[in-house]
Amino acid sequence: MRFSRYYVPTLKEDPAEAEVISHKLLLRGGFIRKLTSGIYSFLPMGLKVLNKIEDIIREEMNRAGAIEVLLPLVQPAELWKETGRWERYGKELLRFKDRHNRDFCLGPTHEEVITDLVRHEIRSYRQLPLNLYQIHTKFRDEIRPRFGLMRAREFVMKDGYSFDKDEEGARKSYESMFEAYNRIFKRIGLVFRAVEADTGQIGGSFSHEFMVLAETGEDTVVACRKCDYAANIEKAEVKVEDKKTNQSCPMYEIVETPNVHTAEDVAKFLNVPKSKIVKTLIYKADDSFVAALIPGDRELNETKLSNVLGVGELSLASYEDVERITGCKVGFAGPVGLNVDRIIADNTLLNSTDLVTGANKEDHHLIHVDLRRDAKIDMYADIVNIDERDLCPKCGGEIRFFKGIEVGHIFMLGTKYSKAMKATFLDENGKEKEMIMGCYGIGVSRIIAAAIEQNHDEDGMIFPPSIAPFEVVIIVLNINDQKVFDTAETIYEDLKMRGVDVILDDRDERAGFKFKDADLLGFPMQIIVGQKGLQKGVVEVKNRKTKEKKELSLDNFIEEFMAWRKDVWQMWGLDI
Ligand code: ATP
Ligand code: MG
Repeated sequence: MRFSRYYVPTLKEDPAEAEVISHKLLLRGGFIRKLTSGIYSFLPMGLKVLNKIEDIIREEMNRAGAIEVLLPLVQPAELWKETGRWERYGKELLRFKDRHNRDFCLGPTHEEVITDLVRHEIRSYRQLPLNLYQIHTKFRDEIRPRFGLMRAREFVMKDGYSFDKDEEGARKSYESMFEAYNRIFKRIGLVFRAVEADTGQIGGSFSHEFMVLAETGEDTVVACRKCDYAANIEKAEVKVEDKKTNQSCPMYEIVETPNVHTAEDVAKFLNVPKSKIVKTLIYKADDSFVAALIPGDRELNETKLSNVLGVGELSLASYEDVERITGCKVGFAGPVGLNVDRIIADNTLLNSTDLVTGANKEDHHLIHVDLRRDAKIDMYADIVNIDERDLCPKCGGEIRFFKGIEVGHIFMLGTKYSKAMKATFLDENGKEKEMIMGCYGIGVSRIIAAAIEQNHDEDGMIFPPSIAPFEVVIIVLNINDQKVFDTAETIYEDLKMRGVDVILDDRDERAGFKFKDADLLGFPMQIIVGQKGLQKGVVEVKNRKTKEKKELSLDNFIEEFMAWRKDVWQMWGLDI
């Protein structure tokens, strides 16, 4: 490709609306443009990266025996009603009506559609296992679309679905996808880790997420220093030692606590440890109200709470609702005498006594509360985040935390969808059975953002060679110098012949301008052709990641370049 004839509308300034580096650089580099909130057009450079990622995914999915299909984006409500997700999915599901007043939605995921397809096609165990995937647009009406491609409303996903005749087969399918995902992310050139995860809206019995490690990641992952345990914090279990006690405390008393609001303030004011303060958080869970009790020094985990409650929509109750329920201003809710549908207390509060809670009266708290004696707790459950003080739930070892960007998620679904939608087959004995399913997603467009979050510097993006928009840029320092231009052109043609994806910067611009663009756009390898070098009989190359420069001899340039290129790929941990 010749730069002068290509379309790369780079911007000089950082776009004001972008908060994270990948978003900034994708806009500045002319890879994407925003149409409206969470919806982007891919310009040529962005599309090239997307296509390269898709190619790697296709190759590895096909290698693992999955077969590509293409499913509709627009889906009828009837299917979603069969699984109950029409009601349960929440507002991310964009629902609308057609001209006949029939309900439809834009597909945020395709379990219903694929299960419908397969139930009409598959009759016999002989047709199983079957693993179908697609690479296509998804729409999720995200509450806070942000960070550009990272959390968009319209985005590209690879989604795959496996159908097996028994548990053993389903496990094999899952494992083969687990391995395929490891190969995919390795080939894309990212530092990543597979972790245990919550199954969320998709459901099923267990799942793994693939996390690209990056400071700006929205997910927090916990990993054991001793064993192989790693999990999303949404999922990681907090192990509580069983400290059974019959100890109690004096009867509770109401005390005045003027102008103290946070658990911290209350603890200081009453001179008790923060762990003895009970935070009472009132949630609206579908159509009911629930109080969640946690110690003052812990954070509530909404994913866990939502799973314990088994509800679709969970959100903090509005101020008006809290005031109505507690009969006082927000900030003083407590479980004693509280009128809600359910009270769930965290496991860490089990058997602890002499606690401080809100008094359901403005500027007042209760001291000496014993939850067993004074409140009606419907259930104790693990509803808080694991934190530094906790130990590995698997082996008891020390744990550490890191940030990650979820780029893939695989689920063992079991019969959740096949049961609801009657996707059955006849087994070896002619008996009707439900298919066992798995499903497997990759955030294809999110990977672009994740790759940049992981690989950038003050000058711009740095792409792994396997997904770079162009693997190599040839910078022609002065296009008006015939010898320089001809040499660059010859190198360009030679590399193209050898299948290298190369762009020739033949624009009539200053050298400094071209260097800046080459760095910004993140081509992993640069070839710099200039008069001075040619006089010495050399051409300079630069490794964008290490910034290392090297002079290769003009006489034997292509051979020396191909060897150097191999080193660059290897430095990225990539085979060529
Ligand atoms: P998240 O927790 O980030 O909202 P999710 O768990 O809802 O994602 P899945 O249903 O597991 O997402 O979808 C499969 C993959 O699609 C995710 O692993 C992620 O990489 C990608 N993805 C999900 N939502 C978005 C989005 N809004 N924008 C871009 N990619 C997304
Ligand atoms: Mg997920």
